Amino acid sequence: MKIGEIFEQKKKEGRPVISFEIFPPKKEEALKNIDETLGLLCALKPDFISVTFGAGGSAVDNKTIEIAKKIKNNYGTTPVVHLTCLQYDREEIRRLLDQLEEAGIDNVLALRGDVNPNVPTKHDFRYASELVEFVKSEKDFCVSGGCYPETHLEAPDAVTDIRNLKKKVDAGVEHLVSQLFFDNEKFYSFYEKTRIAGINVPVEAGVMPVTNRAQIERMVHMCGASLPPKFERILRKYENNREALLDAGIAYAVNQIVDLIAHDVDGVHIYTMNRPAIAKRICDGIKNLI
Ligand code: FAD
Repeated sequence: MKIGEIFEQKKKEGRPVISFEIFPPKKEEALKNIDETLGLLCALKPDFISVTFGAGGSAVDNKTIEIAKKIKNNYGTTPVVHLTCLQYDREEIRRLLDQLEEAGIDNVLALRGDVNPNVPTKHDFRYASELVEFVKSEKDFCVSGGCYPETHLEAPDAVTDIRNLKKKVDAGVEHLVSQLFFDNEKFYSFYEKTRIAGINVPVEAGVMPVTNRAQIERMVHMCGASLPPKFERILRKYENNREALLDAGIAYAVNQIVDLIAHDVDGVHIYTMNRPAIAKRICDGIKNLI
């Protein structure tokens, strides 16, 4: 099923889309357990599951498509395949799109990716919008894109970033998924700006349950999400108590999602970090809201 159709359906029902994100495990051992992870995640009945794409990896041998096929064929859940473009040329992307079509996958999250010092950047695509145009000219996929409530780290300012986002939507993006954030007010303000800019596609709010301090520091460094004082207080108080931080991180994520749903957001995208037990606790916490 195409993501655009899922949003239309959910809108008619007056309910938010709830989706998950997973990544292909790097370690062989974890990859062997992926079926169990997928089984548990799909049992929670997300509207779709997106699978990240290791930028710079082999285009042919990428585990992303294998996992997306399992999600669709073994569990009947709609998959979305992330695709990045900086390290690939048109021919390589075309081959990936052929593979997706053969696998019966309908949805692609088109991303630029980041420069990887170990893998040369190719020059067919400079921005995600160029990948979006290319995918749309080749195939009939539903194409999603990424967006940044607190502005992309390389953008000179928020207005320029939103103008660039509009170009991406004009190129054919039908749905946006936001970078993670911990302060819902940032998302509401960003959402309003997208509407003022004439961006009318659904925007899903990205929520990541934080379960350890190292993880959050890495994330903040990578994506520039700001930490509200109440969140910092939790980190400070429980940083040396794993179990307590896990409880507090899940409670914070549930709280964020309750507020997002009360604000009638289009959808919530949960960065599951491949941890179904955490996803389950979050879903249990919102089961009567969705
Ligand atoms: P773009 O939309 O191309 O934007 C990148 C920068 O270029 C921005 O600063 C933008 O303002 C600017 N820009 C855009 N268009 C123009 C233009 N026409 N002229 C001038 N400037 C322009 N990375 C992975 O490697 N694998 C993944 O699976 C993955 N999944 C992600 C999922 C989500 C939901 C998100 C939000 C990000 C994900 N990323 C992933 C990270 C992403 O690749 C990086 O954030 C990357 O730096 C930007 O990607 P983009 O597609 O948003 O880029």
